[in-house]
Amino acid sequence: MTKNNPLRALPAVDRLLHAGQELSARYGREALLGALRTLLDEARAAVRDGTPAPDTDTLLLRAEALLAAALRPTLRPVVNATGVIIHTNLGRAPLSQAAQQALLDVAGQYSTLEFDLDDGKRGSRLLHAEPLLCAVTEAEAGFAVNNAAAALVLLLSELAQGREVLLSRGQLVEIGGSFRVPDIMAQSGARLVEVGTTNRTRVADYAQAITPESALLMRVHASNFKQIGFVESAPLDEMAAVAHAHGLLLVDDLGSGALLNTEDFGLEHEPTVQESLRAGADIVVFSGDKLLGGPQAGILVGRKAVIARLKRHPLARAVRADKLCLAALSATLEHYRRGEAVQHVPVWQMIARPLSDLQQTAQRWRQALDWPPAAVIAGESTVGGGSLPGATLPTALLALPVRQPDDFLARLRAAAPPVIARISDARVLFDPRTVLQGQDTHLLASVKNLLTS
Ligand SMILES: *Cc1c(COP(=O)(O)O)cnc(C)c1O
Repeated sequence: MTKNNPLRALPAVDRLLHAGQELSARYGREALLGALRTLLDEARAAVRDGTPAPDTDTLLLRAEALLAAALRPTLRPVVNATGVIIHTNLGRAPLSQAAQQALLDVAGQYSTLEFDLDDGKRGSRLLHAEPLLCAVTEAEAGFAVNNAAAALVLLLSELAQGREVLLSRGQLVEIGGSFRVPDIMAQSGARLVEVGTTNRTRVADYAQAITPESALLMRVHASNFKQIGFVESAPLDEMAAVAHAHGLLLVDDLGSGALLNTEDFGLEHEPTVQESLRAGADIVVFSGDKLLGGPQAGILVGRKAVIARLKRHPLARAVRADKLCLAALSATLEHYRRGEAVQHVPVWQMIARPLSDLQQTAQRWRQALDWPPAAVIAGESTVGGGSLPGATLPTALLALPVRQPDDFLARLRAAAPPVIARISDARVLFDPRTVLQGQDTHLLASVKNLLTS
């Protein structure tokens, strides 16, 4: 090294550590040292390429940013401006205020999770949601497990292990996240019997396929795709008649499991849990965090004697719902019992939000940004989350024709809190429908910051 080696302008680690005592106290000496070494390596490479050496203050500022980023949790809240209401990658359904409060109440205190206050003895966690599930679905019995996939493994293991399950070839579906119905069958030891064809399955196809080995008929709702054209599937009530005539059970995997009629909101009809039960399904399975709008859960409702068998199965313990889930689920179901789901459950609030309201919000955003190229355009929100495939709701979008939309999107994701938007026709689009109350100040501040920087 020569005397005028530019690398000598870089501060020494010891000096940086000394000057960074406050950072050392906050993040720990070892963490600071690690960050400084990384930064010095980077700085050396940059200096060799001709960049001037950063000074002590600059390096400490960079170290602070690095340390703060390393400590940030990977699971954190984001602003969903995509217009996809049940966005699986963004955590599906946001909870109602009451559900959040119920969850908090049991989170930091002891609770009656498995304790009977009347006799001071052991109780059952399955009691909490059951009366509400029965009240809102009109089922004889029901309980919740970890998620709908777990509910299916549990019910197939108990009801069909080593026996046959009849399923239409049109319903051998993949739900997403590598969850495939035939794999779930194999896992639970049930033998899949394919019935009908990809596009057409009639009730007679089930009747013909029944053998002494058959345990149940199953229907899986086509929740994330749509068949059009020369298509036929057997009505659930006819499937129930065939199953029951042969002493078999009928299981309906509804997926989303709406309790309200989606047609009332300008959407296509999504089969409801009540309809499936009325049609004669012995067990109906659905998710807690799709159209129900509650926490992640798999809900099983139906005939009392069958539900009782499922509750006793050893797997029920392995896939049980935790107290946070049960608290939030009960509070969510309570909204339905009181007939106030549309007013309080965020998923339904978003579905029901009038177009005029969305237009007003988008216009307000445009004015607040005060950036002349911004426009409000007509667009579509989607329900998402494996429900109502292809169904959209008209919405108003804030559209920003920025120069590099991909880069803009990436910088929005790096904001605090991160904002998730989408691109169409080289414009960045923001849908007010999925932006929760109180989040739009964050959204506007981040966007404004990016437009002016
Ligand atoms: C979403 C879905 C599932 C899986 O539900 P999870 O709660 O995510 O496990 C199962 N079946 C159908 C038809 C679905 O739409």
